[in-house]
Order: sequence, then C-alpha cells, then structure tokens
Amino acid sequence: MIRTVVCQKEGCCGNKFYIETIDNNLQVTCKDCGSKYLFDISYYDFIMLSSCSSCSNDMFKLFKDVEKEGIYAKCTECGAPPEKVYVDSDGIQVSYEAKLLHDIKELMYQVEQRVCNLELKIEDMERGQDVLEESLAYINKYIIQQR
Ligand SMILES: [Zn+2]
Ligand SMILES: [Zn+2]
Repeated sequence: MIRTVVCQKEGCCGNKFYIETIDNNLQVTCKDCGSKYLFDISYYDFIMLSSCSSCSNDMFKLFKDVEKEGIYAKCTECGAPPEKVYVDSDGIQVSYEAKLLHDIKELMYQVEQRVCNLELKIEDMERGQDVLEESLAYINKYIIQQR
C-alpha cells in the first residue's frame, strides 16, 4: 500500500518537501515548518537529486510503500520524479542514460558469453563424435583381424 508522507510535527500537516540525498539517506525538509526527516534509501542503486527531472522545480510530494521498501517522490508542479544519478560499480556517478547504456552493454556481453559457451559445447560434442567414430573404426578393425 502506498501512503502519502505527511509532516509528523504537531500542528503541521505539510505534504510538500524539499529533498536531498545524504549518503544512503534521503533527507526531506517540510516546506511549511522546516522539520527534517530521514529515509533510508540504501536499497536504491541511484541517488535522487533535489530537483525535478522535467521542470526543475524543487518541491516534492512523497509516497511511501508500507509493505516493501520504497519511497517515491513526485514533483508538486508536474508529477515527474526527481532527477536521478546512478552509481556504477566503480562508485562513479552516471546519468540514467549512461547507466542504461552500461546495462545494455553488460547484457550484450552476457549473451556473447552464452553463445561462446554454446559454441564450446558444440565443439566438444563434435570432438566426442570423432572419438566415437575412431573407436568404432578400431573395433571394426579388431573384429576383422579376429576372423
Ligand atoms: Zn511540517
Ligand atoms: Zn516538475
């Protein structure tokens, strides 16, 4: 179930926040009273930036999945998610496009590896058949000699 995140401070029920990623946490600041909250987002492989990905507005509504981990931010102006950067395996921040490209390359590499393994297996099978043929020829020869 997705719940809208509302400011917990008494007398405030603000639901618009500024967001900032600090280490593995998303720090959100209530627009109305300035209260700050931290959400653990270490399970995400990306970092949310503080501004909207489509209109560069910096105020967000937040939604939390209560069953599984997940916090989502939506721009209060246009509904788009915040700009994201991904951290690659070397700890370098990359854009979404760069990450996508990297993932595709990785996938292509895996496919290539599989095709390569398949070719090796076929080669093995062919070699196995050669051995079999040789053995048969040898047995044939043996039988003929025995007669
Ligand atoms: Zn508040
Ligand atoms: Zn926006």
